Amino acid sequence: MKIFNTLTRKKEDFQPLEEGKVKMYVCGPTVYNLIHIGNARPMICFDTARRYLEYKGYDVNYVSNFTDVDDKIIKKAIEEGVSSEEISQRYIEECKKDMEGMNIKPATTHPLATQEIDGMIDMISTLIDKGYAYAVNGTVYYRTRKFDGYGKLSKKNIDDLEAGHRDIKVAGESEKEDPLDFVLWKPKKEGEPYWESPWGQGRPGWHIECSVMSKKYLADEIDIHAGGEDLIFPHHENEIAQSEAANGVPFSKYWMHNAFLNIDNKKMSKSLGNFFTVRDISKEYDLQVLRFFMLSAHYRNPINFSHDLMESAKNGLDRIITAVTNLNHLIENAKIEAITSEEQTQLDSVKDIFDKFEAAMDDDFNTADAIAAVFELVKFANTNATESSSKEYAEGLKKKLLTLTDILGLKVEKKEEMLDADIDALIAERQQARKDKNFARADEIRDTLLAQGIVLEDTREGVRWKRA
Ligand code: AMP
Ligand code: ZN
Repeated sequence: MKIFNTLTRKKEDFQPLEEGKVKMYVCGPTVYNLIHIGNARPMICFDTARRYLEYKGYDVNYVSNFTDVDDKIIKKAIEEGVSSEEISQRYIEECKKDMEGMNIKPATTHPLATQEIDGMIDMISTLIDKGYAYAVNGTVYYRTRKFDGYGKLSKKNIDDLEAGHRDIKVAGESEKEDPLDFVLWKPKKEGEPYWESPWGQGRPGWHIECSVMSKKYLADEIDIHAGGEDLIFPHHENEIAQSEAANGVPFSKYWMHNAFLNIDNKKMSKSLGNFFTVRDISKEYDLQVLRFFMLSAHYRNPINFSHDLMESAKNGLDRIITAVTNLNHLIENAKIEAITSEEQTQLDSVKDIFDKFEAAMDDDFNTADAIAAVFELVKFANTNATESSSKEYAEGLKKKLLTLTDILGLKVEKKEEMLDADIDALIAERQQARKDKNFARADEIRDTLLAQGIVLEDTREGVRWKRA
């Protein structure tokens, strides 16, 4: 199987460091808000890569952090008059709900930056001892020029970078030895969370987090490090500088980066008013549709989000769901139990479709082509499974279809639908909980309904609901 490695800009054969095992780190979100659909892209793409690696028999140790100390979190906490911890805890919980909706498997470990400060202090101390870092007035900087390979991931030339930074030097940032040096530890400011350190009270820089969590939960040297392409520079370049200088071994063998998601061909941004959270989308669609939409493009190509494309994703996913529903119907009503030899031959021929699916996924996780193979199987099932098929044959086809959709993380078996009366009863209970000011229970009911694909709308005439 081949993976495109950002480090070499080539598709390379995948050879894990340890046979049968994959150590994979994916940079997670900064938790100060509901995650947006751009953040959902690396989550979905790399979760799918993980699922495929597991299908191939690898034991995958998948680590993805939450950045829970950051300027944006502190700003939000000040705006709301609550602690940074309250903000990050709240949005970690919300993020986990969205992940569940998108059927993203929980990581083997989801470390939190604030719980790993000791490890960060250790690594920063090592970097100082080895001459790669220095402290000035409570700030610790990384001595960028000291690290020989700086720029190897982003293919940036250190002298060009220097030219770009000259204005900073002019602006009087004289504390640094060199404008290229970046922060490992910063002194506390009034009202900010802080920890004790050998350099005084303060908090870590962003890049050191991932170097430390990756080392602690995986190893000094890992197989795959992944994230969105905006992280190549400076985040991942700095992670490499830190980890390789501190540990003395290559950091990650393969670097994977997803391209960006745009909206109506424009960059998504709050100021342009074209900004969607995953939660916004969940009000209109089952999040499986969002997942299917993301996988319909190769992860290294930009993807454009629009209403029309979501509608066609919904239609595509529905075709698969309908095929499974039909198979279920045939299984329930089959008149013959055992598979015939003719049917067995047909079922065996599905191997060709599996080969196509695997060839696509082996080619740097080409999910777009893999989906084409799934549709081929859907067509095969629709054509070949009939009222006169045996139960075993229909079951065999369903199993094969679910094997493929499960690798893509798509849930295609229709849930038992909640009865209207049960929905109405829950809504009445929610209204009562709100009257009683029991907002926790009211929210819980809304989430329960949402998980069943029931969307609530508060209108002047009362609460309306619809199936997403
Ligand atoms: P952040 O919370 O900004 O650090 O982002 C978390 C992850 O989402 C990172 O891997 C980013 O590269 C990724 N990301 C942010 N915006 C987008 C986008 N519009 N398209 C794809 N990935 C994105
Ligand atoms: Zn990171």
